[in-house]
Amino acid sequence: MIYLDSAATTPTDPAVVEAMLPFLREHFANPSASYSAARMVRKAVQTAREQVARLLGAHADEIVFTSCGTESINTAIASVRASWPEKSDLIIGDTEHAATLEAAKRWSGQVIRVPVNRDGLIDLDQLRALLRPGHTALVSILWANNETGVIAPMREITEIAHAAGALVHADAVQAVGKIEIDLRKVPIDFLSLSGHKFHAPKGIGALLLSQRVRFAPLLVGGGQENGRRSGTENVPGIVALGKAASLCDQHDLAALRDDFEQRLIAAIPESIIHGAQTPRLPNITSICFPGIDAAGMLILLDKAGIACSAGSACHSAALHRSHVLEAMGFDAAHAASTLRFSFSRLNTQTETAAAAEAVIEAVHKMRSERGGSSAVIVN
Ligand code: PLP
Repeated sequence: MIYLDSAATTPTDPAVVEAMLPFLREHFANPSASYSAARMVRKAVQTAREQVARLLGAHADEIVFTSCGTESINTAIASVRASWPEKSDLIIGDTEHAATLEAAKRWSGQVIRVPVNRDGLIDLDQLRALLRPGHTALVSILWANNETGVIAPMREITEIAHAAGALVHADAVQAVGKIEIDLRKVPIDFLSLSGHKFHAPKGIGALLLSQRVRFAPLLVGGGQENGRRSGTENVPGIVALGKAASLCDQHDLAALRDDFEQRLIAAIPESIIHGAQTPRLPNITSICFPGIDAAGMLILLDKAGIACSAGSACHSAALHRSHVLEAMGFDAAHAASTLRFSFSRLNTQTETAAAAEAVIEAVHKMRSERGGSSAVIVN
């Protein structure tokens, strides 16, 4: 299989598996216990905390380990609501992940959505206009979109929100490990990340919680994570997350993606790459082949041994409308002709070249079966 679905989840790095194995075998002690075997485990948890903090330009004690990106996002949003009951407004982007959209439904005050433009970028003037000093508690924005890879101008968003007295949460689940994130330069208040998007296993995430802000935990109980997230720590997962964070360096993912895109555009010039004129992640290609049914393409590509997604990331099994492409102003036909290919440092150029050939062949096959015409104009 040629795996081009790393925005859905990444293969676990063999070095990460090696790092976590001792904590599944001999180092199984509960880190809260008092004997020396537990102290050793506690130390490993602390090392992982430092590794994750280093990746973000944060302090180790600002990192709270969670079970996934979804938990981190829910925690950040619920914490702000509980800590600032006098402020009623939550502002989110129009192209947020379901974790934010659903968590926002539980917000007891007013939820306001900021539109994006055709490139998927938040309209900063609209954001300024929607902020209400004294009323807006939180602005929660995707740092990089999971369907298109489009990168939000987080520094500007943070400045604008802070100037109005609002806190900022970034869903950086797709961004972490793919682009530089330095919280000394972009002083956001909460950041969510998830290990399985950068070669750690599933079931481990983290919430960055700035030292500057009040916090109300979502999970209460035994008081682990300094009272910020109760529940016995997933030590193997935490160690894996730390190791994976330490392995994130500047792999040239853009070279793979660009080569892949150039091959497709050369053979199918009417293809449309979303966000192509915009800063976007180096590892995601969201591409529309006008007139081609993405669901049918997925079947052909699966037969050819290529794993990729139609539209949205985590749940393309249930093919549904893409609220992201819709928010960018594309119609349903356009979305139904869109595929997402996402790369990781474990892919090779040989793989992406072979995948591009398979995609081109599949598009031609579908067109010939439809009677030749590719002239379905969308938008
Ligand atoms: N946010 C974004 C942008 C995502 O892509 C995902 C997962 O696909 C999540 C949040 C949820 O992360 P997790 O699967 O760790 O709960």
